[in-house]
Amino acid sequence: MKVTVLVGGVGGARFLQGVKAALGLPPVGPGPEDHPHSIDAVVNVGDDIWLHGLRVNPDLDTCMYTLGGGIDTAKGWGRSSETWSIREELEAYGAEPTWFGLGDRDVATHLVRTRMLRAGYPLSQVTEALCHRWRPGVRLLPATDDRVETHVVIDNPDADGSEEAPQVAIHFQEWWIRHGAKPEAHRFASVGADQAAILPAARASIAGADVVLVAPSNPVVSIGTVVAVPGVAQALAATPAPVVGLSPIVGGRPVRGMADACLSAIGVGTSAEAVGRHYGGRGEGGLLDGWLVHTGDGHELPGATVREVPLLMTDVEATAEMARAALELAGQRVS
Ligand code: GDP
Ligand code: CA
Repeated sequence: MKVTVLVGGVGGARFLQGVKAALGLPPVGPGPEDHPHSIDAVVNVGDDIWLHGLRVNPDLDTCMYTLGGGIDTAKGWGRSSETWSIREELEAYGAEPTWFGLGDRDVATHLVRTRMLRAGYPLSQVTEALCHRWRPGVRLLPATDDRVETHVVIDNPDADGSEEAPQVAIHFQEWWIRHGAKPEAHRFASVGADQAAILPAARASIAGADVVLVAPSNPVVSIGTVVAVPGVAQALAATPAPVVGLSPIVGGRPVRGMADACLSAIGVGTSAEAVGRHYGGRGEGGLLDGWLVHTGDGHELPGATVREVPLLMTDVEATAEMARAALELAGQRVS
């Protein structure tokens, strides 16, 4: 079976571990060469940012470290056994920005990546090269090799009613990490999306999959940004594979993080039903053939089949159960 999963960072990476386990693969590391099942992940690049001259791809790295055994499992992001000398030294220089902490081990990844990008390799090939070390057991495909960066339009904190613009756009990371998603987001902009194109390997993966899964990732700035890459929505609409999504909203709340602040910015409520309707049933021109929601969150979704199952990724086995339920809803059974 070929499974293609649309993912963001922490939620997406954890879900991928469950998909691996459901398909009989180890949650960390590669499976045997002759394993009958394969997984591709189409990963959000909207969070990507230049920091201190280094290209940082948070969601790709979270997936790579989680599946390759290098993640800080307590935090869910960043390298295990991380140290912070570089950050301290940068702060001593007063080098901005100081709000995004680059760990020493993590910096090595960004150095290798930046060097390869500067030598002319596309992000997809750089990711493949980094994965030679980590062997995540899932093919990690950036949704695009082009720059598609999420920026957030907020009220200008410096506006005094005179010549200052009333609103400004800041990088998503600055809004999310530095400001804790507190300033009201008027809208999100995918900078570069109009010039971008889906990674051909991602298009082929979606077209050739037996099942496409939409991870319980942030519906706006992870899944929304992947789907906003020109060609992704078309590939999803055209694939003969069933498309099944899992709700990141449980009991009217994001399980972790601040997805509610993102949803309200696009006028979508914080509920499984509102997110399901936002994605839409495929029978009605939307994304989904199937929609898994947490037990008790059931609702009607025109053009799609909704099923209620426990959706808390408390451990790999619980997450594998979610993946099995998603595959079953897609009409696939793993033997
Ligand atoms: P990020 O890029 O690191 O923010 O991670 P993602 O976008 O991949 O995932 C973030 C989303 O995962 C949040 O909106 C959470 O609500 C969701 N999430 C985290 N843990 C769980 C869980 O155990 N169950 C479900 N259903 N969603 C979860
Ligand atoms: Ca992210």
